Amino acid sequence: MNQEIEKVKVLIVGSGPAGYTAAIYAARAGLNPILYTGGQPGGQLTITTDVENYPGYPDGIMGPEMMEDFRKQAERFGTKVRYGLVTAVDFFQKPHVVTVDDQIQLQADTVIISTGASAKWLGLDSETRLNGKGVSACAVCDGFFFRGQDVAIVGAGDTACEEASYLANITNKVYMLVRRDEMRASQIMQKRVLNNPKIEVLWNTETDEILGEDEVTGVRVLNNITGEKRELKISGFFVAIGHQPNTEVFKDFIHMDEAGYIKTIPGTTKTNVEGVFACGDAQDNVYRQAVTAAGTGCMAALDAERYLAESETH
Ligand code: NDP
Repeated sequence: MNQEIEKVKVLIVGSGPAGYTAAIYAARAGLNPILYTGGQPGGQLTITTDVENYPGYPDGIMGPEMMEDFRKQAERFGTKVRYGLVTAVDFFQKPHVVTVDDQIQLQADTVIISTGASAKWLGLDSETRLNGKGVSACAVCDGFFFRGQDVAIVGAGDTACEEASYLANITNKVYMLVRRDEMRASQIMQKRVLNNPKIEVLWNTETDEILGEDEVTGVRVLNNITGEKRELKISGFFVAIGHQPNTEVFKDFIHMDEAGYIKTIPGTTKTNVEGVFACGDAQDNVYRQAVTAAGTGCMAALDAERYLAESETH
């Protein structure tokens, strides 16, 4: 049987704060959006615990619960939320063709990319087991829970330096675990770290194991020159070794930087392809916050709405 291809005005790809906010705005504008959740419905916030920095929740909220609220709000105005992963796109065609789970095809007048980015992890079992129980990939989100305590951070790029400095303001002491004898970060960021008396940089140091049963109690580190192992008593372990934007499927059509972050026209969410907009962490390697993602999600919906209105006029 020859099935008719589904047509949609606004197709949203990804279900973090950016995607759901875009959905809320597009739905309230009467654009009947369809949102595909991707492989991790709710996005990065579903693997965090308390969120205390999202305005409007004076007592904080659990990440998964907050994303449930986002979904409900988007559905309340008529967004069709569907489970599925976008596996191919053809942005040369108009309307744009989007394939989901290698089987379903849709034609979309506009596409809003809100696929986010995933934090890179070391790959240790103890890191997975203690994730959200002292292990975190976001100092700005979780640093506050360790105020006055000792913590460690792994990484030596600008993010690690920035987060180490941030943590030093809140915590008692920060061990920075650097796997080589130099840092990748810019000179100014390195200087800030090296001049901070609350940060101790351990060079040539790798993470052997994160310690603790139900919560982080320490970390065993390995000096990769001497082979010496030692244990540090800490209650928070931060991983800052980079992020991977989830944009691979768009790479043949959309302009990106070398790391895969989507380039947008400054001050807008427009990409190089007409009718395709990008918001949230997929296009932001600087702020990476739920509230900034939500803000750009709103922008993307408004940009899409304007684009549709102009296309109809023409
Ligand atoms: P980067 O890729 O720049 O750095 C990642 C760091 O993690 C490197 O030092 C790397 O070590 C280390 N690393 C990677 N894998 C491991 C591992 N398995 N074990 C231990 N260490 C590991 O990522 P960032 O997130 O820091 O930065 C991304 C981009 O964003 C950069 O271009 C950066 O300049 C930019 N940025 C700018 C900021 C600013 O200007 N304020 C703030 C934050 C980011 P090694 O060096 O040995 O490879």
